Amino acid sequence: MPIATIDPTTGETVAEFEPHDADEIERRIAQSHEAYRALRSTTFAERAAWMRAAADLMDAEVEETAAMLTLEMGKTLAQSRAEVRKSATNLRYYAEHAEEFLTGRELDAAAVNASRAYTVYEPIGVVLAVMPWNYPLWQVIRFAAPALMAGNTVLLKHASNVPQAALYLDAIFERGGFPAGSFNTLLIGAREVEGVLRDRRVVAATLTGSEPAGRSVASIAGSEVKHVVLELGGSDPFLVLPSADLDAAVATAVTARTSNNGQACINAKRFIVHEDVYDAFVERFTAAMAALVVGDPRDDATDVGPLATSSGRDEVAELVSDALAQGAVATTGGTVPEGPGWFYPPTVVTGVTKAMRLYAEEAFGPVATVFRASSLEEALEIANDTTFGLSSAVWTQDADEERRAIAGLDAGAVFVNGMSISYPQVPFGGTKDSGLGRELSVEGIREFTNAKSVWKA
Ligand code: NAP
Repeated sequence: MPIATIDPTTGETVAEFEPHDADEIERRIAQSHEAYRALRSTTFAERAAWMRAAADLMDAEVEETAAMLTLEMGKTLAQSRAEVRKSATNLRYYAEHAEEFLTGRELDAAAVNASRAYTVYEPIGVVLAVMPWNYPLWQVIRFAAPALMAGNTVLLKHASNVPQAALYLDAIFERGGFPAGSFNTLLIGAREVEGVLRDRRVVAATLTGSEPAGRSVASIAGSEVKHVVLELGGSDPFLVLPSADLDAAVATAVTARTSNNGQACINAKRFIVHEDVYDAFVERFTAAMAALVVGDPRDDATDVGPLATSSGRDEVAELVSDALAQGAVATTGGTVPEGPGWFYPPTVVTGVTKAMRLYAEEAFGPVATVFRASSLEEALEIANDTTFGLSSAVWTQDADEERRAIAGLDAGAVFVNGMSISYPQVPFGGTKDSGLGRELSVEGIREFTNAKSVWKA
């Protein structure tokens, strides 16, 4: 895959970038390693000041950066602006809380024959981050803010279709005041990841992306005995039970399925609706999905822009065609539009069976499947009948149903009467094939630290 900016709205190549050669990769790894020695001896207060300066730069540059994100991957300008601001918020969140999160704890010294026993959290070194294009800034910042505040340095291998975002990130931390090389972008293809990860100066890795990429990086990290965090795919269930506020559930369902042009890991993808409200839900959900404006993401009136890549659109179209050929029904959407750009319409599919790929595979585009359930138990069975376990949502006003749903959903998160959103304050990550480990909150910053125990006679 070339390292290039290709506008998904038109399909035109806007800029191509020369990949880094072996010498440049070596130079950047060495610089990251050197920077780690410098960074680990700085104070939380120093790092926090640089982090806040980087956040201020991000906020000040929101318009240019948002335009760049929209150009490279096609989300609406409004959503690009929101992504920039959210990234700046995460920088400030860790500037404020890192020290508190990494303060060790006193242990029971008497019980272990010590005068004092305690733990400290120390940085571990250079961490490789392999990142996707769908939130080109946020996914990286979600990892980088805590990693840098902990005193680690970061090597980024970003997705090949968002090189301008990768280069923006390459500069932002140094511009904020971090030592040169604290954050380094490698302009490399997926094939070069193995060599970087096997380098002894690279001590761990985090990957956000697809399951095959995650399995590959995890197996390399495993063979090197290096820690890895994986944030992979999802096929999140969205349960609607009879007591739900149906108007609110439908409105939220539309946003939950189509935000980021339907290309978020935590988009709700499978809507599992109790039979008592199934017909009403399908009718209103279909109408609301059909009413969305699909078009140029730079236009304020647009709700849903193009998919980010031509191959991504092909995959979504194939999943839907396969289901329709086997008897499923598209109550709206389901056909690839004529014309330039990689557009795909908001689509609702009912009647999906286990024989169809759409039942088991993640649809990474604005395609919702709707299932009918006759009880909460059946809804939970359908919800958990997936290899993924990222997030989930349940709509009910019944306290007992709420409790049973929270306990019964096999996922990294449950949102009650709302939709899945990542917040700096809330731990984020999945079960099953959706990944390993957690990002954000206190859990996220401790992932890439050495919890050192100290015992003193
Ligand atoms: P992808 O193909 O896995 O790409 C993600 C990153 O991994 C890119 O930088 C890519 O580089 C690299 N990569 C691909 N194959 C690799 C390999 N074998 N070894 C090492 N690196 C490799 O993912 P995508 O299709 O662009 O992104 C969509 C997927 O990401 C969806 O499944 C979505 O659910 C998931 N996702 C998960 C989360 C989460 O937090 N759980 C968040 C966002 C997205 P190239 O671009 O050079 O190929």
